[in-house]
Amino acid sequence: MTITAVSIAAYVIASLLFVLSLAGLSKHESAKSGLTYGIVGMAIALVATIAVVLERVFDLDEIDVKLIPILLLFGAIVIGALVGLWQAKIVEMTGMPELIALLHSFVGLAAVLIGWNGAIGGFDGSDVVDPGKNLRSLTNIHEAEIAIGIFIGAVTLTGSIVANLKLSAKMKSAPLMLPGKNVINVGSLVVFAVLTGFYVAMDTHADQTAAFILLGVITALALFLGWHLVASIGGGDMPVVISMLNSYSGWAAAASGFLLGNDLLIVTGALVGSSGAYLSYIMCQAMNRSFISVIAGGFGIEAPTSDDTDYGEHREIQADAAAELLAGAKSVVITPGYGMAVAQAQYPVADLTAKLRAKGIDVRFGIHPVAGRLPGHMNVLLAEAKLPYDIVLELDEINDDFDETDVVLVIGANDTVNPAAAEDPGSPIAGMPVLEVWNAKDVIVFKRSMAAGYAGVQNPLFFRENTQMLFGDAKDRVEDIIAAL
Ligand code: NDP
Repeated sequence: MTITAVSIAAYVIASLLFVLSLAGLSKHESAKSGLTYGIVGMAIALVATIAVVLERVFDLDEIDVKLIPILLLFGAIVIGALVGLWQAKIVEMTGMPELIALLHSFVGLAAVLIGWNGAIGGFDGSDVVDPGKNLRSLTNIHEAEIAIGIFIGAVTLTGSIVANLKLSAKMKSAPLMLPGKNVINVGSLVVFAVLTGFYVAMDTHADQTAAFILLGVITALALFLGWHLVASIGGGDMPVVISMLNSYSGWAAAASGFLLGNDLLIVTGALVGSSGAYLSYIMCQAMNRSFISVIAGGFGIEAPTSDDTDYGEHREIQADAAAELLAGAKSVVITPGYGMAVAQAQYPVADLTAKLRAKGIDVRFGIHPVAGRLPGHMNVLLAEAKLPYDIVLELDEINDDFDETDVVLVIGANDTVNPAAAEDPGSPIAGMPVLEVWNAKDVIVFKRSMAAGYAGVQNPLFFRENTQMLFGDAKDRVEDIIAAL
């Protein structure tokens, strides 16, 4: 049995493990085993791929010709492993989304390079079983794969870089509103389809220079489109963009799999592509957004009206007064957001919860589906602080209970508790379901300033009659309340 035959079996096993991994990761209880399946599948895939490459290299005649691919292969593995280990060690929980966006950009870059490699290497049909017959149509398919692979890869590359810059606050989160942005997006897609038609129809062997120029234009167009698609999306819709780029990176990998004739890459790419697309769809439903509109770079979304409304004065509260309010309450709901992650306030929040529950006060948590910067971000933090699952409720489970709640503690949340989403149709976050905390008797908002949230939208909640601001780092202020209690 050849190594190639064994590797095919290994690829099938790895593919099955990836399916099991996705299934496991979809539930809290099975997430750990899902992760293990994924790691084992990836290890098998890596070993099998290295074995296949080495088998091909050892078939070469000259020793110095053998050495170069071996050095390149192991050099790349060592560098990749070191960078991966270093990043995994230093990344903070709050920095995960931007790291994920950066990793998606690598997949896009790889797809672009593999596409160009396919174009430069040409296609002579020598590895095709029946070369005489359909060589021209096979060459056409190969050329279409090259153009499509480069296009998806380049869109993923620049789109993910913009997502990384937006998530790390190196670029404004507000949507870019170029005049005629929808025409630009749809027009770019049409131009890509026409150019790909030309590329496939031309004889790329006879006129290599023209073929490379055409491919260069397709690459540049896709790089531009990736940048424009993501730059046009506002901060509030970024969660969908991340899962959408995850999906694109899967399709880019699948396109590379077709070019390289690697079945595992095709299967894995299709798994990532379709699961990412489904996640984007679910998130769009949760946020009341049109799926098509978001994947088309905010298609149909008009520039938000500028907000110069005078909301009046806000009121402040100090930790000891907040403690008094809490001590007199019967029911308390805590709605955490990104600021709790920044302040790492989950541990004192857990202590405060235990103290209040010991006094017989009903304490529950309301978690918005896009609170923080990752799906499930708040659940992970609260689980880390060992808060019982049964008091941690989803938005739909708790939203009707706020009018019977005495005190709501908004800990570092902003966009996810913004009444403008429900009340102002001109707001960039209009229509997004939010935690309706303003229906409670008293609301205490923990944050450091009056600054807007991630979507860059002013929050009228801060100026409501029943809202009081508790300024400062969320961890320090919660500790102050515990001390006062
Ligand atoms: P926001 O990002 O809207 O607001 C967080 C608030 O926390 C800020 O207003 C900030 O105010 C405050 N804050 C920051 N640091 C501290 C600190 N140390 N102590 C106290 N407060 C602090 O948070 P939400 O969770 O409500 O909303 C998430 C937003 O992120 C949504 O717009 C969502 O669409 C977007 N998003 C979500 C993703 C996801 O998958 N969950 C992914 C990408 C984007 P101040 O500076 O004044 O302290």
